[in-house]
Amino acid sequence: MGTKGKEIVEADVEEIVALMNKALADEWLAYYQYWVGAKVVTGPMRGFVEGELMEHAGEELKHANMLVERILQLDGTPLLSPDQWIEQTNCGYDAPEDPQVKTILKQNIKGEQCAIEVYNKLVKKTRDTDPITYRIVLEILEDEVEHEDDLQQILEDLEGIKKQI
Ligand code: FE
Ligand code: FE
Ligand code: MG
Repeated sequence: MGTKGKEIVEADVEEIVALMNKALADEWLAYYQYWVGAKVVTGPMRGFVEGELMEHAGEELKHANMLVERILQLDGTPLLSPDQWIEQTNCGYDAPEDPQVKTILKQNIKGEQCAIEVYNKLVKKTRDTDPITYRIVLEILEDEVEHEDDLQQILEDLEGIKKQI
């Protein structure tokens, strides 16, 4: 990155890059979990849920892109191999082995709650020391909060349907 742009970063750049790479591993796993979940999901409101899961998949990919752009600006190296996704993930991967809509929603809600914790920590860590990274992780945090809320609302609606029957 430009010398002045790097000079203003008061945070430990290596640490920030390492934390962003761990978040990058989470984003790729979240992307695939949503994407393949959208393919296999079955049960009530399937078409609607499939659309929402695909939309979230696209947003996780956008997050991966935002992280990599910033890692490169900081002269870091983004994770180069999928092996590193499993080695470095914070939030892990929940395979959608049970394709029932509620199970898939609950797995993805758990993932979003983990992501919220990860980005909340990154927000706090960069707030006073690295304004550019701060703005990026804050934007991602906003999306993850919205993702959790979307999925919890769908789950509540589904549970409401069950009670009425
Ligand atoms: Fe994300
Ligand atoms: Fe998300
Ligand atoms: Mg949504």
